[in-house]
Amino acid sequence: MGSLALSRAEVLDQPAPSIAGEVARIAREDLAPLAAGIDDGSVYPAEVLRKFGAVGAWGSHVLHEGPADLRCAIQAMAAIGEVCGATAFMAWCQNTLVWYAANSTNLKLAKRFGDTFSTGRVLGGTGLSNPMKSFFGIEKLKLKGKKVEGGYIVRGALPWVSNLGPDHYFGTIFEREEDEGTVMFLADCSDPAITLTPCKPFMAMDGTGTYGVQFRDVFVSDELILADPAAPFVKKIRAGFILLQAGMALGVIRDCINIMDEVGSPLGHINRYLPQQPVHFRDVAAELEAETMVLARDPYNEDETYWRKVIALRLSAGEASVAAAHAAMLHCGARGYLRSHRAQRRLREAYFVAIVTPATKQLRKMLADY
Ligand SMILES: Cc1cc2nc3c(=O)[nH]c(=O)nc-3n(C[C@H](O)[C@H](O)[C@H](O)COP(=O)(O)OP(=O)(O)OC[C@H]3O[C@@H](n4cnc5c(N)ncnc54)[C@H](O)[C@@H]3O)c2cc1C
Repeated sequence: MGSLALSRAEVLDQPAPSIAGEVARIAREDLAPLAAGIDDGSVYPAEVLRKFGAVGAWGSHVLHEGPADLRCAIQAMAAIGEVCGATAFMAWCQNTLVWYAANSTNLKLAKRFGDTFSTGRVLGGTGLSNPMKSFFGIEKLKLKGKKVEGGYIVRGALPWVSNLGPDHYFGTIFEREEDEGTVMFLADCSDPAITLTPCKPFMAMDGTGTYGVQFRDVFVSDELILADPAAPFVKKIRAGFILLQAGMALGVIRDCINIMDEVGSPLGHINRYLPQQPVHFRDVAAELEAETMVLARDPYNEDETYWRKVIALRLSAGEASVAAAHAAMLHCGARGYLRSHRAQRRLREAYFVAIVTPATKQLRKMLADY
């Protein structure tokens, strides 16, 4: 595996289609046989995630010079999602972790973790659902931190964080006890004061390494601080955080179109009475992809109209995923109702796109509050 890994310079030299093409090949060859096991929770695909990292899947959106560009990362995630929605979600977790380290002004942290995360040597994710909800007035911050010499003592619990394991990292935010300011940091799952508790079974996404995470007076050293204060940093990374999720949606929608096409021959004579046809979703996917690619070239855009477009795109992505999976179920009929058919997996995965933070209801609130 190690010999496959590209250096950062080599990753930057790769034209985007070559990374997405390699990712698609690994997804077909290595990930497809695992998709059912990931779906039922018996497999966490660490090796395949590392393989994606080795061909540059987690590093393409991190540029040392010039503006960041998320297009290749999103296309690679879409290729993964076309095979397995749960792994596309883990891809998003990893890409987001990379995004945090790359944007941190803590240069020591960026140097220590940048390459390890972006090559997939170390895996991890993000615990920003609660902070993202708190910043938009939906719930209170669940982690609290107290300033001490050389860092903070953090306590509290997050109900769900994905793509975790005993040697993984994730980025999250606590509220300072002293003054209610917020600080973003990297949590090290190998810290004995951090406990990972398996979640009750979900309806999908069980193989995503998702745990409840408890912080019992964890010492977070200054070396693990991503941003203090967190607010301006979150403003910088938030469009990227959301836009990268489009990869999950595009992958799920593309495979729902494939599913509808596959039953076209035996069932087309009757499926043509259904109101939504593959051609409709081809248009939806093309529009979603085109809009995503435009916005993904410019993730640091501070314009309010840009941010509104990002929110609207994310809302469409969730709604289109559910609509495409619903249509795939109707086109498949009894075939898709079999547990062994991927149409029902796609439906369960599509709902995740619509409920993961920022969920459909949060996005609608954000647009309503505009
Ligand atoms: C499979 C899975 C993986 C996830 N991975 C991540 C991740 O990697 N990082 C991350 O930050 N978030 C993760 N989440 C959380 C996710 O992003 C959303 O925040 C969550 O689905 C709820 O969002 P919502 O806006 O619909 O909130 P709502 O469901 O409306 O409300 C959420 C709040 O209700 C309470 N609550 C509701 N149900 C439960 C429950 N069963 N147990 C405990 N509290 C509950 C909690 O206070 C919670 O904050 C994951 C969720 C799931 C289901």
